Amino acid sequence: MRPTGKLHLGNYMGALSNWVKLQDQYECYFFIADLHALTTDYADTSNILPNTMDVALDFLAGGLDPEKCTIFVQSKVKQHFELPLYLGMITPLGWLERVPSYKEMQENLVNKDLTTYGFLGYPVLMASDILLYQAQYVPVGQDQQAHVELTREVARRFNQCYPRVHNGPVGTFFTDVLPPPKVLLTPSPKLPGTDGRKMSKSYGNTILMTDPEQVVRQKLKTMVTDPARIRRTDPGDPDKCPVGDLHKIFSTPETLADVYEGCRSAGIGCIQCKGWAADALVQVLAPIQERRASFSEAQVTEILKDGSNRARARAEQTMEEVRAAMQMTVRGEGGR
Ligand code: SF4
Repeated sequence: MRPTGKLHLGNYMGALSNWVKLQDQYECYFFIADLHALTTDYADTSNILPNTMDVALDFLAGGLDPEKCTIFVQSKVKQHFELPLYLGMITPLGWLERVPSYKEMQENLVNKDLTTYGFLGYPVLMASDILLYQAQYVPVGQDQQAHVELTREVARRFNQCYPRVHNGPVGTFFTDVLPPPKVLLTPSPKLPGTDGRKMSKSYGNTILMTDPEQVVRQKLKTMVTDPARIRRTDPGDPDKCPVGDLHKIFSTPETLADVYEGCRSAGIGCIQCKGWAADALVQVLAPIQERRASFSEAQVTEILKDGSNRARARAEQTMEEVRAAMQMTVRGEGGR
């Protein structure tokens, strides 16, 4: 996850809450992608470090457990600088220009000059992030599938150019150094922001994981509703209302039934309905915020240091194989 600041409920529901489940089923690596932040925020790097700490705290608050998974900072693992250079040598420009988010982000972030080598190459950086751990699966939503597909293509090309050579008694054979990873599609419910569009920091419509109760209630009060419900006496439809969408995700079945009944019959007002939604959100956020408060900055720093050490050791195993396959080692030297 990029260090763009405190995480919001969209990040939590779309990614973090899934990761918390995955840490019990797989050997997982989760990192804060500060090098990726540079691809768009190179002109002002002052926020990257404080945001990195915030994201780490939100990871822990959301339930990632450093005893069960590895949590680290991308730039603290130098292998994340080395592999992209090697992979960049074999990745055709056309593959990068075809990545859907390349043009999209250039069009959306008009106040930033993204005609840089670093920005064009960010999918190679992303491919390296995955391949360095010889990952089998990448947990992503639908919108990220193209990146994993490109990673698979880069891995295949690498394996073709630089296979691992085995000389055995039955002759010579070749195997892959970088296994092409698979997508592990994670459920990401449609989570609306306060203006009804997808919750996103760039729209300024977020509810943060750290928002205190009164802020959550205030934000909900300003949330848009079914446009057909102009007066209190007009019936509405929760299926056409962003507040209704929040109820579907966070409220109990009983409350949801009351919302449908009360909204469609104009038996409840939107203010009351928003109050119920706020109740449900506050209940979800309370234990998260409690966990967040239990970590000191020194503890977070230690967790990231330890995670980065573990990640570095794993990444170096891969790099030794990569360098050997590319014949970039001095004979008998092994890794470096
Ligand atoms: S009553 Fe609730 S679901 Fe219905 S329009 Fe108002 S806020 Fe939306």
